Amino acid sequence: TGDPHVGTAYMALFNWAYARANGGEFLLRIEDTDAERSTVESEQSIYDALRWLGLDWDEGPDVGGAHAPYRQSERQGTYQEHIATLLNNNHAFHCFCSKERLDEVRQAQQKAKQTTRYDGHCIGLTEDEVNRRLTAGESHVIRMVVPKEGDCIFTDRLRGEISIPYTQVDMQVLMKAAGMPTYHFAVVVDDHLMAISHIIRGEEWISSVPKHKLLYGYLDWQLPELIHLPLLRNTDQSKLSKRKNPTGINYYRALSILPESLLNYLALMG
Ligand code: ZN
Repeated sequence: TGDPHVGTAYMALFNWAYARANGGEFLLRIEDTDAERSTVESEQSIYDALRWLGLDWDEGPDVGGAHAPYRQSERQGTYQEHIATLLNNNHAFHCFCSKERLDEVRQAQQKAKQTTRYDGHCIGLTEDEVNRRLTAGESHVIRMVVPKEGDCIFTDRLRGEISIPYTQVDMQVLMKAAGMPTYHFAVVVDDHLMAISHIIRGEEWISSVPKHKLLYGYLDWQLPELIHLPLLRNTDQSKLSKRKNPTGINYYRALSILPESLLNYLALMG
């Protein structure tokens, strides 16, 4: 939403360059499951900003392609189908916990200086109990099952082998109460169905890899190659944020910065 962030262009640039250098294809997908924040205008401003920079895509909502539709809001049936598979295989479960209960759990964990995460309260509900509460129309989300012990080990092509203990991984919500998928669930389903071979994204997603890798395993799919890039940062190493610096692509465009200059600058940062 809003003026597209230079960080978006930065990541898009490396995906685009990698695809162009290796005979691949660069796909544009609009992640618009948050209906309140996603507008026709915000989508158009993404197209405009990337096109202004010369980052063209081979498949996307506005150009079509073999893996359409490219807006997550138009892929609801797909998510429902795969959440059913996860539920049937006990890789996901219904959670009826209230916000108040989850707040209490989080506060207790914070006090005890533990990793804040869902405590597994609803994982042991019997099938009868779940069905009774679903029939009664009780509000719920669907969460993924995470192993109680062991480590998730994966390879990042830039960083090598990375290991994260499952005790640090939350039982992520996959479907929200309104029946919309969360980012973590939709991104896995879409990347697989769109035949994504390489995921190049910011380093803030490294801690999410265990969730994604588990989902690929549960669905019997192959995990794409992962490349997590450093983020653009201020000179004091803090993340670029609107509060400190102008971060919008259109800000630089309005200053008459040439797109080639901005792109060259971003390329040199990487
Ligand atoms: Zn629960």
